[in-house]
Amino acid sequence: MLCKTVACSPGHDRLIRLMVRAAKPREKKSAGDARIREIFSRLAARNPHPRGELDYSNPFTLLVAVVLSAQATDAGVNRATKGLFAVADTPEKMVELGEEVLREKIKTIGLFRAKAKNVVELSRQLIARFDSQVPKTLEELQSLPGVGRKTANVVLNIAFGEKTIAVDTHLFRVSNRIPLAKGKTPEEVEKGLLAIVPDEFLQHAHHWLILHGRYICKARKPDCPVCPIADLCLWPEKTVLPI
Ligand code: SF4
Repeated sequence: MLCKTVACSPGHDRLIRLMVRAAKPREKKSAGDARIREIFSRLAARNPHPRGELDYSNPFTLLVAVVLSAQATDAGVNRATKGLFAVADTPEKMVELGEEVLREKIKTIGLFRAKAKNVVELSRQLIARFDSQVPKTLEELQSLPGVGRKTANVVLNIAFGEKTIAVDTHLFRVSNRIPLAKGKTPEEVEKGLLAIVPDEFLQHAHHWLILHGRYICKARKPDCPVCPIADLCLWPEKTVLPI
């Protein structure tokens, strides 16, 4: 059986054979493992040191930037936080700034009123409950106003180097589409990926998948002809061209 995708390169046929050859369950799992490993190997080779696109200078400003980024673009958040973080890069300074001034500084971002309220209150709680430090556990982070599971996982991954998977709308789509881990909720996809992604790829896995979804495997019109993992993607609607 030959690979029929334009993105195929020499050696893929052997991988495809490995994927479809085995009838025994143990061999099937091994073929699946090889496919997952190959997907992340290729994404890693194209971008060995991926980083988020939000600007920040310390764990607190990262936390604030991620809270502000809900339903907003990273570029839009960066434009607003440039001036904000110049005057308020600690919880104390943010409380001092106050909700009204903060609202004015972030008014170009969607949901700015609710976000300003949450950012001032989470700053107060960091001072009162965590000695002005950003906590390092999922549960503690999620106990702060405006901080959901995705935000907490982003902060743990980027600020503290934890091997977490932050599931955003892009990652949720591509994981179900390729598929890697399927799930009806972001948490199901997160747990599925944690179980199947090889350990050496876990640190950057969510970055690679988010960027893949944002720039190639787009929601309405995925760029399958230029996709680096097209021959490994099992989505029936992929639009790769036959050779
Ligand atoms: S082949 Fe198309 S659908 Fe599959 S991962 Fe690549 S861009 Fe997405």
